[in-house]
Amino acid sequence: MDFTVLVDNNAGCNINMLAEPGLSFLLENDYQKILFDCGYSDIFIKNAYKMGLDLTEVTEIVLSHGHNDHTAGLIRLDILYRKMLAAGISLTHKTIYAHPDVFEPKLDSQKRNIGFPGNAGDLCDVFDLELSYQPVWLTSKLVFLGEIPIKYKSDYKYNDETAVVYKGIDGLVIMAGCSHIGLPNIIEHAKKVTKEERIDTLIGGIWLRDKTEYKIRELGIYLRTLNIKNFYPGHCCDLNSKLVLSEYLKVKEVYSGLKLSFD
Ligand SMILES: [Zn+2]
Ligand SMILES: [Zn+2]
Repeated sequence: MDFTVLVDNNAGCNINMLAEPGLSFLLENDYQKILFDCGYSDIFIKNAYKMGLDLTEVTEIVLSHGHNDHTAGLIRLDILYRKMLAAGISLTHKTIYAHPDVFEPKLDSQKRNIGFPGNAGDLCDVFDLELSYQPVWLTSKLVFLGEIPIKYKSDYKYNDETAVVYKGIDGLVIMAGCSHIGLPNIIEHAKKVTKEERIDTLIGGIWLRDKTEYKIRELGIYLRTLNIKNFYPGHCCDLNSKLVLSEYLKVKEVYSGLKLSFD
C-alpha cells in the first residue's frame, strides 16, 4: 500500500509543499484510494494536485475524530465534488467511515466549538455515511478501528476518536489523528482487532502538550517495550514531547509530501 502525507503541521525541507496545523493522509492500493482525515482547509487538495494524486478517485474517507483540523477540509472536498457533478463529470462512489459521535459539537476549554464546522446532513448528497462503533475492514489488510475502549486513563471527554491500522507482513502500521484518547488505548485496541502484536510503524498526531514531563516519559517507557521499527510523531506532537520521546525510541520526521510504502 502506498502512503502519502497530504497535510501535516510541518512543510519539510526542499519539497515545496504547503503545511497547516492539520492532518491528512492518502492510502492507495490498485483498487482503492482512502483518505484518512482532510486537514483544516483545502491545502490537502492543493498538495495532492502538486503531487499528481487524483482525489476525484477517492473511494473511502476515514475521519479520526471530529476536531476541525481533521474535518473542516471535508467541506472543501464536498464543494469540489459538487462542482464536478454540476459540470456533468461522474464520480466514483465515496463512503465516509467514522465514529457515530464524530459530527457532534466538540468544545475547547473556552467552550468554543472546534468540531466539524458544517452540516453533516449536507454531506449525504455526495457521500455515503457509515458511522460505526465496530471495526470495519476497508481492505483485506486495512481496518477502521471503530470506538476505542478506554483501558488506560484518558483525558479526552469525547468517545469519537478512532484510527486506521494496516496489517502488513512486517507488523502493524498504526495511523492516528491526535491520540487524545491516549496512544496506549489506540495501540492495544489495534493489536486486539488485528490479532497481531508486532508494530512496524506508528504515524500521526500525538497530543501531549498539556501533559507533564513525567507523563510523557511514562509513554516513552511504554513505547520502548513495543519495539516499534518506525516511529513518526507528527501533526500536534510538539517539539518538547518529541525530544523527550526520542530518549526512548528513534523519532522520524513527518511532513507534507512524505511518501512511504507498506507490504
Ligand atoms: Zn484533535
Ligand atoms: Zn489535530
